Amino acid sequence: MRRIFVLLFVLGLGAVGVAPSVAVGNVARGPGGAAYDVQLTSDATGRTWTGRERIAFTNTSGMPMAEVYLRLWGNGWDGCAQPVKVSNFSGGVPAGLSVNCTALKVKLPAALAAGKRTSIAFDLTMTAPERPDRFGRSGGYSFFGNALPVLAVRDAAGWHLEPDVGIGESYYALAADFVVRLDHPAAVQVPATGLTSTVRRGKQVSSVSIAKQVRDFAWAAGPFRQSVVTSPGGIKVRTWWTGAVTAGAVTDARTKGVAAIDDFGKRFGKYPYGEVDLVLNDQWGSFSGMEYPGFVLLIAPRAEEGPVVHELAHQWWYGIVGNNEYADPWLDEAFAVYSTDLHTGDTAEGCWPGTLDVSITNNMGYWKRYGAGWSRYVYTYGACMLHDLERVLGSPAMATMLRAYTKSHWYGVSTVADFKAAAQAATRTDLTAFWDAHSIN
Ligand SMILES: [Zn+2]
Repeated sequence: MRRIFVLLFVLGLGAVGVAPSVAVGNVARGPGGAAYDVQLTSDATGRTWTGRERIAFTNTSGMPMAEVYLRLWGNGWDGCAQPVKVSNFSGGVPAGLSVNCTALKVKLPAALAAGKRTSIAFDLTMTAPERPDRFGRSGGYSFFGNALPVLAVRDAAGWHLEPDVGIGESYYALAADFVVRLDHPAAVQVPATGLTSTVRRGKQVSSVSIAKQVRDFAWAAGPFRQSVVTSPGGIKVRTWWTGAVTAGAVTDARTKGVAAIDDFGKRFGKYPYGEVDLVLNDQWGSFSGMEYPGFVLLIAPRAEEGPVVHELAHQWWYGIVGNNEYADPWLDEAFAVYSTDLHTGDTAEGCWPGTLDVSITNNMGYWKRYGAGWSRYVYTYGACMLHDLERVLGSPAMATMLRAYTKSHWYGVSTVADFKAAAQAATRTDLTAFWDAHSIN
């Protein structure tokens, strides 16, 4: 995500009552191997969608699982007004909303033994709130980012029920397979995560999107225009734009997007999803760009460098290599900034400001309390740390290390300890003093 700094949330310094998540060692995360099967039908404009969601999953955690939790992140800003509502469960019984209606406990009929598979299903209604945001509505266009309910993660620290603190991202999900059928009027275009095929029946269209090994599923709906090009590396870059976006901004995003998706593929491992959607709008409330698997929301037009390169870097950092974005926001944001610098050739010489008063590796609860300026640590100094690490390892060793790190966490989850171990394995220099000097704890 790229923030618009004038709109930082500095209110609400009150503590949010959740246990902080901690590093989890080798304890297995779960539920895993999830398969989402979703069928939704829209109203005439694509703002409200109703239908049913089914989630099959395996208890990969190594211990019995009596319940699962759904994360209803779409309720993050509106709370129990619930723009995302679920009901009519099968395969489990709803047992209470919590965390400002962003978490729903679903009790299973019997504790699911380790290694066993089951499924839950429920009816779903979601209406995009009237605001130009990742889950929101702007003009005649609706956006469904972090709107579709997804499974929470359990590990040695327990269930991860962190709140949406209103800045950055608090999300944490394991890679899963999605089949999502969206039925909508033919006048409504629906860019979405995954590879989409459409069937038209009169004035209605069924768009079926298939996405494998992704952490989330996002879409948008409205009278978008679109173009598609294939990058030299073989990735389809589909650009969608609202009526307020200029032709120059479309060309700019597409050109930068094509170059970035291929360059990052060479650096970190080929982009595995075949296609990426760039979705451009002329206004967003709280960000200039926001990443989802195979789908990014972007501001356009923009005078100089747009957020497209940063958001595409997130396809690797958060997407392919996952992390708990509440616990370790720097693990995706610093890497996205550093990757953008690699792409543009910025070596950030002399970027380190000296001793920092706070640690780069703080969680989003901390940054919420810190207030304005928090992103300087997570994004700017975090990326600078990676530049300095490159200066310690040498550029070829840094590049090799990042490829190996990506490969070993491909579709998995990384932690601070994992990254430190990967970096340490790439050099004979003891990095303890380096981490200390760079506020990596
Ligand atoms: Zn970002």
